[in-house]
Amino acid sequence: MHVLTVPVTSFMQNTRFITCQSTGKSAVIDPGGDVDKLQSVIAQNKLDVEVILLTHGHLDHVGAADLLKAVLKVDIIGPHQDETFWFEAIPMQAQMFGFKPKQAFLPDRWLTAGDVVKVGKLELEVRFCPGHTPGHVVFYEKSSKTVIVGDVLFKGAIGRTDFPKGNTEQLKESIRKELFSLPDETVVMSGHGENTTIGYEKQNNPFMSGRFG
Ligand SMILES: [Zn+2]
Ligand SMILES: [Zn+2]
Repeated sequence: MHVLTVPVTSFMQNTRFITCQSTGKSAVIDPGGDVDKLQSVIAQNKLDVEVILLTHGHLDHVGAADLLKAVLKVDIIGPHQDETFWFEAIPMQAQMFGFKPKQAFLPDRWLTAGDVVKVGKLELEVRFCPGHTPGHVVFYEKSSKTVIVGDVLFKGAIGRTDFPKGNTEQLKESIRKELFSLPDETVVMSGHGENTTIGYEKQNNPFMSGRFG
């Protein structure tokens, strides 16, 4: 799996283009904004994007999904349907985050725990990780030992839980059950900031060791 990371918006949200190197097929995960920038990355790298995947419904992760869908003529898949209210609240989120006014949209298909999304020959296993938001999913690609986690886990931190329907205990349970069960060497690609590994976070994440919160 080849991964291209493009930070978007003032939130520096990491949009990822993942590509199956044997078929040349790509997916874009969390296109949160800056649609012109994303389109030029697609053109420059001649990416054959066949699907748009979303980890959760926060605007800095989904803000350009509907615009890219219109251009690329591909489906938007994910997150879990418990995220519906965040999509319905897109106009309110635009105000809240200081983005341009934006209309609500919904994905073409929701995902659920255990689903597998194929991108060329890559198989992304869907893991359900509520807590930061109620319908958050992560994508685990076993052959490259990589998990793309949105705002569930960061290097040395965990996702915020002070939004409506956020839940700190649920988030920690998701991390313990769905992420810390992965091999230590698994690379964690977060929605903001640098990559980390499962092993590093098990050892060092202060929010998961009980040293904070
Ligand atoms: Zn978020
Ligand atoms: Zn975010």
